[in-house]
Amino acid sequence: MTTPLNQSLTELPDRLCTWCQVPMKKRLVGGQQFVHYTCPKCVFQHTTRLGPKPPSPAH
Ligand SMILES: [Zn+2]
Repeated sequence: MTTPLNQSLTELPDRLCTWCQVPMKKRLVGGQQFVHYTCPKCVFQHTTRLGPKPPSPAH
């Protein structure tokens, strides 16, 4: 199974590690709806959602 190039990867916002203050590595996960950040120096990880906010749940 080949992994397509993540052309949007370069457009992802950088995030500094809370502890090391170094740029964290970025990886798209969850159907490319989330960005998974991992610090190259420590074990700190962070996941953030991409794109527009999900629609508010209907009442
Ligand atoms: Zn770190």
